[in-house]
Amino acid sequence: MMEEKITTNGDETRQLGEQSAEYVRTGGVLCLYGDLGGGKTTFTQGVAKALGIKKLVPSPTFLIVRTYDLQDNKFYHVDLYRLQSEQEIEDIGLPEILSDPTNIVVIEWSEKLGNLLPNDRIDVHFEYVGEDKRKITIKNISEHS
Ligand code: ADP
Ligand code: MG
Repeated sequence: MMEEKITTNGDETRQLGEQSAEYVRTGGVLCLYGDLGGGKTTFTQGVAKALGIKKLVPSPTFLIVRTYDLQDNKFYHVDLYRLQSEQEIEDIGLPEILSDPTNIVVIEWSEKLGNLLPNDRIDVHFEYVGEDKRKITIKNISEHS
């Protein structure tokens, strides 16, 4: 699966997030990449909305991970922007979070995952095209393909 879309406002990016939630509804990892202001948090708001989360807590600024309880599983919003070291990834328990296949995980700044990048994941790249224009590329990455 490979999908490329140009969005021209935040709502369109949010909608794309809502649609993309379907790929991970029963568990999975969405790895988001791209610079500040690219739309990663906006996209994550859409994912959260589709999962029935009423309000995503504003981008976890000091908290790197936020957990939301769903009916059958859990949703984790991870923002590695302020991450200092790979040790910190261990400290926040990300390996454990990623090892449970029923968890739904969205990771902003996945560039920083290093060795912890999961083999099976969906990569979402955000490119700034113009003030309100973003190019968003979604690609399924699987060990078995
Ligand atoms: P990031 O998490 O990647 O740093 P955010 O989602 O927090 O990015 O911020 C994106 C900013 O760009 C928001 O202020 C949003 O309103 C604005 N914006 C303008 N056009 C778009 C678009 N097409 N998609 C997403 N955000 C957009
Ligand atoms: Mg963000």
